[in-house]
Amino acid sequence: IQSRLPDVGTSIFSVMSKLAIDSGAINLSQGFPDFDCAPELIALVEKHLHSGKNQYAPMTGVPVLNERIAEKVNGLHGSNYRAESEVTVTAGGTQALFTAIAATIHPGDEVIIFEPAYDSYIPSIRLFGGVIRSVALTPPDYRIDWQHVRSLVTPRTRMILLNSPQNPSGTILTEEDMRQLTDITRDTNIVMLSDEVYEHLVYDGLQHQSMARFPELRERSFIVASFGKLFHTTGWKLGYCVAPAQLMSEFRKVHQFNVFSVNTPMQYAAADFLSDPQTYLQLSAFFQRKRDEFTRLMKETRFDLLPCKGSYFLSASYSRISGEPDTAFTQRLTKDFGVAAIPVSAFYAKGNDYGIVRFCFAKKQETLEKAVERLMNV
Ligand code: PMP
Ligand code: GLN
Repeated sequence: IQSRLPDVGTSIFSVMSKLAIDSGAINLSQGFPDFDCAPELIALVEKHLHSGKNQYAPMTGVPVLNERIAEKVNGLHGSNYRAESEVTVTAGGTQALFTAIAATIHPGDEVIIFEPAYDSYIPSIRLFGGVIRSVALTPPDYRIDWQHVRSLVTPRTRMILLNSPQNPSGTILTEEDMRQLTDITRDTNIVMLSDEVYEHLVYDGLQHQSMARFPELRERSFIVASFGKLFHTTGWKLGYCVAPAQLMSEFRKVHQFNVFSVNTPMQYAAADFLSDPQTYLQLSAFFQRKRDEFTRLMKETRFDLLPCKGSYFLSASYSRISGEPDTAFTQRLTKDFGVAAIPVSAFYAKGNDYGIVRFCFAKKQETLEKAVERLMNV
């Protein structure tokens, strides 16, 4: 067959996790916790598995979960999303992103994205004939030049895709960024796709700037979230999208023929678990401790860490160690030193290489200590 995605290989997350397993390395590459979720959450899944919640869920999500999601988002951001028409439960954040793109993008539509960008964005946009207009952000601060963004907007601009907290850079959007975005999109038909899967992993007392907080942005936004990050359950592939009814109605037209619905017992368990806001409110403090601990340990190595305001990733420059390309360096790090990381060039379509690797610190203390012990030899 003629490839729809001729330039696409296997995702870097699959590649590095496989190399980590094959090399017996500590896996700080793909983003997932190496500790389990709360036992209470498992007990809730068991309860629903044993109480006959094993058939198709409604296409848009089990109503009690849609309710809990609407309560959470509205409670946090002062919005007024309606559970029945403006919330859809998805198979992880990835399917929500894909569906929002599929529902919005026509061939020739332009999409502004920011690189480094999560690896699913560009292929998903290209599949529907979207044209990428990329803003390449650079370390160490990855600051957005809004003047430049404004210059990329044309009558064909259909979507702006943003990710805050950002994977892999750990940067977050500020109130000033949101003001700029509001100005740029005012009086346009631009749709925002806002990847907020790390919304509850924001540090140093900073505030996550959700599109839901800003009425002018909210009315044009698909907001994507993931229970994988919320509950330490990346393997459940459970997430959601919220959007104004008009956008959500188009989203659901695609969703119903993409997955139709998402596994039922986990949805009930998620709804029960969400009823205590502490489940997500304590996440920032929890991961901030891990960030600080990993930062402290890494001081003994020759890596230079970049700041991280959110997400569970820390980037590090290895300029004091070697001048190799980052892909070669991460391969060697994994095979020879037993620690797997992600080369940040994988987040740039043109492979921009700034000599930076990404470590996931969502790991047990002992894992972080063992990894850094090995990194001291590099
Ligand atoms: N967006 C970003 C920025 C991510 O890092 C991830 C990966 N976890 C996702 C979306 C996908 O989330 P999920 O695993 O729920 O599909
Ligand atoms: N989001 C995770 C990361 O950035 C990986 C998800 C995946 O493997 N597709 O590492």
